[in-house]
Amino acid sequence: MNAPTPKLPEPKLSPAEIAGLRPDTRLVHGGILRSPYGETAEALYLTQGYVYETAEQAEARFKGDDPGFIYTRYSNPTNAMFEERLALLEGAEVARSTASGMAAVTAALLCQLRAGDHVVAARALFGSCRYVVEELLPRFGIASTLVDGTDLAAWEAAVRPETKVFFLESPTNPTLEIIDIAGVAAISKAAGALLVVDNVFATPMLQSPLALGADIVVYSATKHIDGQGRCLAGVVLCSQQFLTDHLQTFLRQTGPSCAPFNAWVMLKGLETLPLRVERMQASAAALADRLAGEEKIAKVIYPFRDDHPQHALAKRQMRGGGTLVTFEVEGGKAGAFRFLNALKVARISNNLGDAKSLVTHPATTTHQRFTPDARAEMGISDGMVRLSVGLEHVEDLADDLTRALAAV
Ligand SMILES: *Cc1c(COP(=O)(O)O)cnc(C)c1O
Repeated sequence: MNAPTPKLPEPKLSPAEIAGLRPDTRLVHGGILRSPYGETAEALYLTQGYVYETAEQAEARFKGDDPGFIYTRYSNPTNAMFEERLALLEGAEVARSTASGMAAVTAALLCQLRAGDHVVAARALFGSCRYVVEELLPRFGIASTLVDGTDLAAWEAAVRPETKVFFLESPTNPTLEIIDIAGVAAISKAAGALLVVDNVFATPMLQSPLALGADIVVYSATKHIDGQGRCLAGVVLCSQQFLTDHLQTFLRQTGPSCAPFNAWVMLKGLETLPLRVERMQASAAALADRLAGEEKIAKVIYPFRDDHPQHALAKRQMRGGGTLVTFEVEGGKAGAFRFLNALKVARISNNLGDAKSLVTHPATTTHQRFTPDARAEMGISDGMVRLSVGLEHVEDLADDLTRALAAV
């Protein structure tokens, strides 16, 4: 063979040195498994399986005595790089990637629950998460109670002797309410339950639920981590103990694995995550202020604005106000539709966290299946619009919003 066959390179940075680096640097250099070819960019290991040198090695690997990969449903070097890099950012002992955010949520819950158990969750959940808690789990004898997540007394009152899991997301979709993660974590701990936080809206850059007392963090990496609207993926971050006791076997045997190609896209996405979130957030904060001064806007919701009812809590548990702005256009559904249809830069989509600014009308799309009363209870009005701010120049976005408001 004519190709050079180099030796496996020694990593320059030890794990301890990587842990001492600042987050931005860890997101570029953390978790790399460099092959003997010394590639600059992380390799995409598009393989289902792995070959063994000997039958003895295969036996040892299945026993867990020989470190190495067995099958991509279990693990894959590209996925392992993505998981390690995100775990380093989050401050989690371990991470496991999944095919989608919903695969991560479902696995994080089902792997630890059994018939007779009880879950307490915040009412304001992403639609599919709410389906899992409200409709899927009860089919298997796992009861659930939905509470107003912002009311700590309601969490406390919902606890039963068989409560095993608390589940929330903050800020919530689409009303950007803030749930006191440390407060809920304390109640969860006292109840002997584990707190699972869906941290998609805050992103790992702006909020660290584990540091606030949560036990498990889940992401739809589909959103900001990819950040360019290409692939679906999810992640569960937890302790080594939880992985060993619950998650590992569940993922291996049920197979919601992340495709290595998708894991590779997410891994590369992490390199630019801090830059993208910083820019998107700066634009979101600026646009929230501008919208608040507009005549045809009845209300603006942005966690770091002083008029957000929970801005003090937001500032305590988040490092920034986030990349989403929600607002109410005058004229109800008709006003909101005229506004959405007149936008030219921001596009209509139910997705978020993308480089492209995306607008959603929750009442007729993501929250369509709820009755008007249920929507009113959630604070979702017919004129409400959710804007996921992208990477366009903020002045082009501001011009787009102003132009569209003129059409209302
Ligand atoms: C998108 C989203 C999910 C689901 O993620 P998928 O990757 O689409 O499966 C879960 N929770 C929140 C808050 C989300 O925004």
